[in-house]
Parts: sequence; structure tokens; C-alpha cells
Amino acid sequence: MGRTKREVVLRLGSSLTELRGIGPRRAECLAEAGIATVEDLLMVLPFRYEDRSRFIPVADLLVDAPATVRGTVRNARLRRTRIRGFTLFDLRLEDETGGIAARWFNQPYLRNVLKDGSLVVLHGVPSLPEQGPPLPLFKNPQFEVLGDDPEGTHTGRIVPIYRRTADLSTRSLRTLIHRALATLPEAMEDPLPEATVRRLSLEDRASALRNVHFPPAGTEASLLAQGLTISHRRLALEELYRLQCAFARARGQRRSREGFPCFVPPDRQEGLIALAPFNLTDAQKRALAEILADLGRSYPMGRLLQGDVGCGKTVVALLAAIAVMERGYQVAWMVPTEILAEQHARSAEELLSKTSHAMALLTSQSRVSSGGELLASIAQGRVGLAIGTHALIQDAVRFRRLALVVVDEQHRFGVRQRELLGGKGSNPHQLIMTATPIPRSLAMALYGDLDVSLIDEMPPGRVPVRTAVRAPQEREKVYRFIREEVGRGGRAAIVVPAIRDSQLAPESSAMNTFRRLSSSVFPDLQVGLLHGKLSWEERQRIMREFSSGAVQVLVSTTVLEVGVDVPEASVMVVEQADRFGLAQLHQIRGRVGRGIRPSWCILIPAERTTPQGVERLRILAEISDGFEIARRDLSLRRSGEFLGVRQSGTPDLRVADLPRDLDLLEVARAELEDRFGKSFDS
Ligand code: ADP
Ligand code: MG
Repeated sequence: MGRTKREVVLRLGSSLTELRGIGPRRAECLAEAGIATVEDLLMVLPFRYEDRSRFIPVADLLVDAPATVRGTVRNARLRRTRIRGFTLFDLRLEDETGGIAARWFNQPYLRNVLKDGSLVVLHGVPSLPEQGPPLPLFKNPQFEVLGDDPEGTHTGRIVPIYRRTADLSTRSLRTLIHRALATLPEAMEDPLPEATVRRLSLEDRASALRNVHFPPAGTEASLLAQGLTISHRRLALEELYRLQCAFARARGQRRSREGFPCFVPPDRQEGLIALAPFNLTDAQKRALAEILADLGRSYPMGRLLQGDVGCGKTVVALLAAIAVMERGYQVAWMVPTEILAEQHARSAEELLSKTSHAMALLTSQSRVSSGGELLASIAQGRVGLAIGTHALIQDAVRFRRLALVVVDEQHRFGVRQRELLGGKGSNPHQLIMTATPIPRSLAMALYGDLDVSLIDEMPPGRVPVRTAVRAPQEREKVYRFIREEVGRGGRAAIVVPAIRDSQLAPESSAMNTFRRLSSSVFPDLQVGLLHGKLSWEERQRIMREFSSGAVQVLVSTTVLEVGVDVPEASVMVVEQADRFGLAQLHQIRGRVGRGIRPSWCILIPAERTTPQGVERLRILAEISDGFEIARRDLSLRRSGEFLGVRQSGTPDLRVADLPRDLDLLEVARAELEDRFGKSFDS
């Protein structure tokens, strides 16, 4: 058709196909990356900026001082080194004042990018080379080829640098974003209320968008680097405000639905608590009381039960389940692994034996083995409590009157799975449990649609797990320690990151480790191997053997992470520990120290770890409080990763970064309260 795109005025909601420079192929590629509208494109923020308004003459470079230089490439040369597959790419960059060397490691493709004669900008920290003349050297500097457009959008100003997105280079993105900004009208709709904008003296939205991409001259570099300019903050606030609005709406909707009121009178609550095989901690009682209060309401509960690993969430949820069953309703309890399902089923059976309620264990295996009988008893309501894996969400599973859904270790499930389970009833109460403890303010950001209960106390008598970081060379000593501990009646688990051999290190493979330990290190002990590829029966058998003590040393992948309870397990060794996140290591560590035995967690980093890697592990050695660890973990990671704890359906934050913008979250809430009253958050 040969349609030409005129420079029309676009709106934020306009499709990107309207933008000059975006053909059907690009549009498709962008759409795949979730970028469909002009607004989506503008939310691709620079991950850093370069002040290219000030290039430093090469002659003025100082060692160790970050600098941007501009010059012409000479003597570009790719070399292979004696180490196989290892390459060096060297060049000399010349400007009017002199030359500087630059070197990239293992990036052979640069040969085709940085060619002799091309005008490029390098940004990096010059150092003095270990050998040769004392000429400053840029190692792996950032670079940009200026091509034949040395001025304009790409240089001569503070320039945005984007991550490669939808196969678009930083340069293409910069061009497109610049163009999109130019076509936007000055006045645009603002998600923030006018009163808020006025009260906080915020920049208008159009300027904020323009300035985060193309900061005005003189914008402070450190604010830019941290994403803390007034423009960044404005956009982050907008986003968090929108998020809080969405949460408020979700809560409102939940509260307007009709649920299954299951009121438990105070005198009956005592009796309920008495069913537990031990005295509940105060924190457990408090959480239970909050849950029971919710269950008594006319609308469905939506509650997150948070508590560090081992704090005893299971029993609280079980008692709540009983309260619901007392009313003649059913409960579905979903857990991520079959091992855990079986373990919960055992605890549940013990409690339920004191009542008249029946339970069923539903895994993909049990379904096969018991045919339709199990399903029929659930469908007819003869079973009050169904505990199972995601087998619970199959179509064939029907409930008669499902009134409570419990999702355990929710970070292992997607939102969709949660919804499917809830869909088995009509607006059942929902209790979501997580052992990835996060600070309260962050919980608000991630789970703002839920109420939160917190168990912040451990059952009495727990001996904190002693944690140590040991170098790989000390592995033999660790094995000796395991042997002693087994001699004293303890049991040890060794967690490794992968099932099979990888190029990384033999220690990272469960198979290898198992073979080595069972044949040469502990030939006289029973060594077991557990991983996700084993059949269900095998996994069950091995876990049972570890529980009973028939297996004394268990080699496992992270399938061990979730919820298994073996009180005699007293040593946990994690190989390649620096490859795990802190919160995950804390979870894994939580598998020991569940009884009264003193327990140890030994973290062995990879041979090729970095000093920071070891430093990070030290945090675990020093801190046992899961919340504090989560806080540290958070400050070490990008929020994107951390938000992963909520999995898909996570409020998708594109501008705001947590914890960086946590204070803005408070502001957003205050503004929302101001507008709608406190009711949205009671
Ligand atoms: P988590 O919160 O990690 O799911 P669990 O519910 O599995 O923890 O409980 C961990 C262990 O603590 C279990 O063996 C459980 O029986 C025990 N436990 C829980 N609450 C108490 C309590 N109040 N007193 C003694 N032991 C308890
Ligand atoms: Mg648990």
C-alpha cells in the first residue's frame, strides 16, 4: 500500500505502528517484548546515562577516574590467546591530544563493530596495564559507534543508554524514543490526582517523561545513576499509585462478594487450639485469631500468612481448616511437592483423628492408584480436607462446598494456579502462606490486595542453626564432620544445584556427588540420592528412608528446599552455595534445626567464586532472622528478581524499583487515603 507515516500527534495509548521507523516486523518483535504502545516504549528507561557533553581529552585521562573519551579507532586487532577459546580484542583510540589503548576480553564480535577509522565513544575507568608502557588502558569499556551522525540525539548531551530490547540497540531505541517524545502533545492524562501533583509540587507528566530519557544539562550525575531525579521519582510515584489503586479495587471487589461465613465463637476457639499437639506460640495464636475473625465475615478472606521457615504455619492453617469443616464446608490445600503433601497429610491425619472429619491426599499418583473413588468422595463432600499438589487443580477434581483454599509455599505457584484452585468453589476464603519473609512495607507493595498476618516467633526449644562458610579445599574436613555427626545419631543432607554433570564443576552435580560419596567417601554409610527426575515412588521411598534413618547422608537437588521436616537432620551442606539467592539458602537451611538437636549449615562456594560471593554467604553465617536476610537480599538484588517471589501476576513495575522507592510507596498510600479515606486499608 506504500503508506507513509506523517509526523502526526501521537498519544501515549497510540500503537507503536503509528511511529515512523517502526515497520510491521519491528512492531511484532516489540509487541513480543510487551511493548505495544507509545507509553510502553517510553517506559523502557535508560539503565544508565553518559554525560557526553563533556568528553575528556585523552591526554588528560587519570588512572582510576571514570571517563568518556571520543576518538577514532586505530589498529583494531583480534587475538587468540594460549588458553583455548579465549580472545582479546585490542584497539587504540586517538583524539587530537593523543591515544589510549582499549581491550575487551572474549568479545570477538567487536571485530565487526569497532573498525579502524570509525568514530567511537568509550566510557570506562582507565587503569595502568600490568606490562608494557605506562599508557592508560580501558578494560572492557562501554562503547558506542558514532557513525556519521556525531552530533544530535546521541552525543553532545547527557545521553541515555538502554539495554538491548526486542533486538533494538541502544542507539535505535534512543532514536525511536526521541521521536516518540517529539510527537507527544504537551498535555497528557495524569494518573495522579491534581491535588497530589500540586501538594508535592511535581513536575508535569510530559516533562517527566522527556527528562528521564533526555535529562536537561546540569542534571546531577549521581541522581541519574541511581534513578533518583525528580523525573524518575515522579514516574515511580505514578506507577506505585496506580498499583495501590488496583489493589484497593481488588480488595473492594472481594469485599462485595458473598462468601462462606464460618463464625467460631470464642469459647469454641479454645477447644480448637487444644487440638494442636503442642502449645501454640503467642504469635501462632495471634495469627489464628486474625484468620478466624476473617472466616467469620460475610465476604471471602484474602490473607497472607507470613513467617520464617520453621515458625509453625502449618498447624495454624490446619486449625483454620478445621474451623471451616466444623461448618460442614470443604478445604483444599495445595502444596508444591508430593513429599510435602504427604508430610502435611500425616500432620493433618493426626489432628483430624480427634475430630470426625475425613481428609484425602491427592497427588498425580494417588489419583491413578485409587481411580475415581477418591474424586467421588471429594465431589460428594465426604472428604472435608483435600491436601494435594497441583493435581488439585485438574478439571476432574470437583468439590461440593469448597469454602477455604490454602496455598502453601505460594512462591512456587503462579497466580493462575491459585485462581484455578479458587475457582473450584464460589468465592472461597483464601489463605496464602509464604516462607519468603519480606518487610511489611514490601509486603504491601507485592500483596496489597491481601491482609497480612505475621508469625514472628519460633516454637520454644529451637537451637539456632550454626552456619559456616568453608572453602572448597576444606571439603574433606566437612566430610569428616558429617561422619562424626552421623556417629552421634545425626543425619546430613548435601544440596547441590544440578542433577547431572555440567561443565561448571563436578560438585554441582547430584549424580556425581552421590557416586563419589557412596563409593569412596562414605562407603560404610547409607547414602541416598533425591532429585526431581526420580519417580514419585522413589522419591517417597528415599524421603522415608531419610526420615527413618535408613539413609544417613542424603544428596539432593533443591527439591529438598520446600517444607520437608526431618527432626534428626542436623547437618546441611550446600555446594556452590554462591549460586543461590540468600532467601533460598535461608529456606534450605531451614530444613535442619527442626528438632532439639544442635544443627549446622555449611556453605561451600564454587571454586571460582568472587570475594563478593563469599561476603554474601557470610551474611547468612551472621544472621538467622529470615526478615533481616530478606532485607539484605533485597538490597543486593534488583527488584525485578525479588519480585519473582510473587511469580507471574506480579505487579509489573517498570519504573519504580523496590526497595529504592519504598518511601514513595508510603506516599502513594497516603495520597490514596487522602482521596478515598482510610476505608480502603482497614
Ligand atoms: P513452617 O512455618 O516452615 O511451615 P512448620 O509448620 O512445618 O513450619 O513447623 C515446623 C515444625 O515446628 C514442625 O515440626 C511443627 O510440628 C513444629 N511446631 C510448630 N509449632 C510448634 C509449637 N508451637 N511448639 C512446638 N513445635 C511446633
Ligand atoms: Mg511450611
